[in-house]
Amino acid sequence: MSQPLIQETPAGLYCERGDFYIDPWQRVSKAVITHAHADHARPGSKSYLTSREGRNVLRSRLGPAPIIETLRYGEQSLINGVRLSLHPAGHVLGSAQVRVEYDGEVWVVSGDYKVEPDVTCTAFESVPCHTFITESTFGLPVYRWRPQSEIFEDINRWWIQCRDAGRPAVLFAYSLGKAQRLIAGVDRNIGPIFCHPTVEELNREYRNSGIELPPTLLPSQAPARKAWGGTLIVAPPGVANSQWMNKFGDVSVAMASGWMLTRGTRRWQSVDRGFPLSDHADWPGLLWAIEESKAEQILVTHGHTAPMVRYLKEQGKSARVLVTRFSDSGEAKDEEVAEAAQE
Ligand SMILES: [Zn+2]
Ligand SMILES: [Zn+2]
Repeated sequence: MSQPLIQETPAGLYCERGDFYIDPWQRVSKAVITHAHADHARPGSKSYLTSREGRNVLRSRLGPAPIIETLRYGEQSLINGVRLSLHPAGHVLGSAQVRVEYDGEVWVVSGDYKVEPDVTCTAFESVPCHTFITESTFGLPVYRWRPQSEIFEDINRWWIQCRDAGRPAVLFAYSLGKAQRLIAGVDRNIGPIFCHPTVEELNREYRNSGIELPPTLLPSQAPARKAWGGTLIVAPPGVANSQWMNKFGDVSVAMASGWMLTRGTRRWQSVDRGFPLSDHADWPGLLWAIEESKAEQILVTHGHTAPMVRYLKEQGKSARVLVTRFSDSGEAKDEEVAEAAQE
């Protein structure tokens, strides 16, 4: 039997015919990157290929040294006879599914994706293929997202309550993607928006990439002895309970993550509110994407892989778990898990 078009290797997903890796976790000569989150875009490789939309955020993650080549969504590149193209994944700015075609056979590696619209990145596109490698971060039937308009209304209401009580509203969110989606989605008329420097740097890259965000400020740009009541402060969860928080005084703290649906604030006792907003597909979203791919073979990676594979097999599909570096360990498998795990 000939080698599959894309294989699991110690360095990551590898296309031998094209001699490139997809989201490798070791240093390689050619890395195709689905998106700039840390568990997908690791530094140290010689050259990177990513979507044009994702170039700025990837550069800010990798620094000035490595070569970054780009493709527009849908643009094809021929690498040693392998046809490669990138298609929107709807996860964060620049996120892409990788379509690989050789000799009439098509594989698609989804990377992380969501099927809900997001004003800060291009919408997910279904790409028909023979083999679909899908993520499964929220691959359990319990995960069904409420419409994001309702979540944003809840966030606005909480912010207004904070303002009325004279308190700042601190919203923890993953700094790449989730933070910008929140900033773009809240009601900017409620009050000024301040951001942690890590978030603000990515805001800048989003704006440089043509994404419109409301004005945001660094806390250091505020006048001395500022009263923080009524402000929204967006920060990565890692700064919870850190000194950085001290200057804001008596705050109300919330967290925006898909995990808030099931774990709520129980595992995050320092958080007053949990908003279940995710940049990953929920259970119906995953099943929809899998169906739309028309794939004969489904390989499942990231998160709740075993229940998803079991379900797909029950539906008569050919499916198996794709073994990745993290899937056998109890380690955090995903940025949302990683962030939420920092208790
Ligand atoms: Zn991601
Ligand atoms: Zn991920």
